[in-house]
Amino acid sequence: SKQGSRGAPCFFDPEMNHRLREKRSLEIDLRQAVERGEFRLAFQPQYSLEQQRVSGAEALLRWTRPGHGNMPPDQFIPLAEETGLIAPIGAWVLEEACRCAVAWPGELGIAVNVSPAQFRQGGLEEAVEAALARSGLAASRLELEITEGVLMHDTEETLDMLQRLRRRGVRIAVDDFGTGYSSLGYLQKFPFDKVKIDRSFIQRLGQDASAGAIVRAVVGMSHALGVRANAEGVELREQAELLCAEGCEEVQGYLFGRPMPAAEFLRLVDTTTVA
Ligand code: C2E
Ligand code: CA
Ligand code: CA
Ligand code: CA
Repeated sequence: SKQGSRGAPCFFDPEMNHRLREKRSLEIDLRQAVERGEFRLAFQPQYSLEQQRVSGAEALLRWTRPGHGNMPPDQFIPLAEETGLIAPIGAWVLEEACRCAVAWPGELGIAVNVSPAQFRQGGLEEAVEAALARSGLAASRLELEITEGVLMHDTEETLDMLQRLRRRGVRIAVDDFGTGYSSLGYLQKFPFDKVKIDRSFIQRLGQDASAGAIVRAVVGMSHALGVRANAEGVELREQAELLCAEGCEEVQGYLFGRPMPAAEFLRLVDTTTVA
């Protein structure tokens, strides 16, 4: 970018100065976190409305930053992307997620978030391959969650990579659907297996008629394209019932479980399959 964050401000702005220092210090801590292995994963259950059971989990990155406590991923992933640290972090996430999932019942899937920067920087396919090989997880149990941002860049290359990954058996989900510079054209061009309807639409379900119309349209579009729909951020039973009535296959949200440690997720799966 032309006005890079590293450019010196040409006027005295203590606020900006402070923000720059914060950013530097975050970058240093983030680098250290990679070296020291300070990250862990939380797993949020994904629930199949068709099968009435947990169908898998989404892996979500967690970091307790020394001296700061828990840092939400939204607060450090952008800087990790900017600094290139997303490559080692993303590789760790993939491997750790696969390693955990291999201990779960075989029908359960694991979804991993992949940022547009991981696509751009290269090495993503290698990281996926390494994670699968080292964990012994079947490729068909791994799903990569990509945002519309991925689809917008490097179209030719991205398309090839997604096709290779899918031929390898890895599934692709389009995350946060409806929030990006969404164009239905992307969906026509890119191979994918699932659409994740953004939480902002689900939260307004039942209150706002247009949210209901949008959800119905996205579920209908997914089915017309032959892919599955997942609704994110389901917190209320009424939302789940509406989604079920619309034919949405899968739901995820606090109603079905918050992000939790792997051991807890495994206990949840065990008790729900026994019951
Ligand atoms: P996302 O992929 O859309 O993940 C869903 C976010 O919604 C998670 O926040 C999750 O904890 C939260 N959530 C789930 N159910 C509910 C609900 O019922 N209500 C509400 N209010 N929130 C719910 P989290 O863990 O803070 O992650 C935020 C974002 O950070 C993720 O959004 C994703 O974009 C990014 N992220 C997380 N882990 C990774 C990762 O390993 N790699 C990359 N590249 N990005 C990640
Ligand atoms: Ca996601
Ligand atoms: Ca999402
Ligand atoms: Ca998101």
